[in-house]
Amino acid sequence: MNAVVLLGAPGAGKGTQAPLLAERLGVPIVATGGLFRAAVRDGTPLGMDARRYMDAGQLVPDDITVRLLLDRLGRADAAHGVILDGFPRTRVQAQALDEALAERGARVAAAVLVDVPAEELIDRMSGRWICRAAGHPYHERFSRPHVPGICDLDGSELYQRPDDRPDTIRARMAQQLSALEDVIEHYRQSGVLKTVDGLQGIREVADAINAALVGTGIEPAGTTERAAG
Ligand SMILES: [Zn+2]
Repeated sequence: MNAVVLLGAPGAGKGTQAPLLAERLGVPIVATGGLFRAAVRDGTPLGMDARRYMDAGQLVPDDITVRLLLDRLGRADAAHGVILDGFPRTRVQAQALDEALAERGARVAAAVLVDVPAEELIDRMSGRWICRAAGHPYHERFSRPHVPGICDLDGSELYQRPDDRPDTIRARMAQQLSALEDVIEHYRQSGVLKTVDGLQGIREVADAINAALVGTGIEPAGTTERAAG
């Protein structure tokens, strides 16, 4: 069981690529948010531990997260590998994951970074506007209303939430990118980092991810044939 870690800043398109890659590789996507919810719902001992932190509005400690993750990786559908989405988020988590996988004779086969320049991410995220009446979403670049500033569906005024303003997004992004950089550096040093240009279209990015996985030991059967033929 080996893992592919998908890395990317918010807005880089990682969430779009994860299911495409999962389908191609025939392995499940494991996202820590989903793991927490499932463990809490099932009332497992780890789930109860996690819940105490979540109820108190605190981050679930790394050791609990890693143990939950290992439980999940031990299931039958993960026998041929998993895609990790949203974990690790810090260098400490990345190290804990490496150690836990090594104890099981597994490893991170590849860490794929969907790379989009920070300025482009800020542009993508700060173009969001919503309508006052019902919160219908618009985007300055990707889904403009027919009449500027007015909702197509109900005619109400469009406005930008404080969270969607460029300065707020810039500050939040700087924090997130600094943690992401640490994780990227961790995988660069261990020699498994693959960087894919995230400015391309969805299909081109998916193809680039597939190509990056060739030779990592986690590519689907037949990849090399198809690439050659
Ligand atoms: Zn509306």
